[in-house]
Amino acid sequence: MGSPVQTLIDNADYEPVPPAPVLSLMDRCDRCIQRAWVRVANKKGLPLQFCAHHARKFEASLIGFAQDTIDETDNGFSRDK
Ligand SMILES: [Zn+2]
Repeated sequence: MGSPVQTLIDNADYEPVPPAPVLSLMDRCDRCIQRAWVRVANKKGLPLQFCAHHARKFEASLIGFAQDTIDETDNGFSRDK
């Protein structure tokens, strides 16, 4: 059995708090001028940023490339019109 506090935490009925966005309006796609919603870093930590359109376009090649990925395309504001 865990401590009473741990039991309270385990049984808490709460909505998970989404993490604060990392990418801002100042972050731009490396392939166009649109706002970047995805940032990937390779093994050397070199970042690439993409808008939702280009993130989808290069998704297949990014899967093998990316060591660290920030994907904020699901926050509701990034859908291409
Ligand atoms: Zn783009």
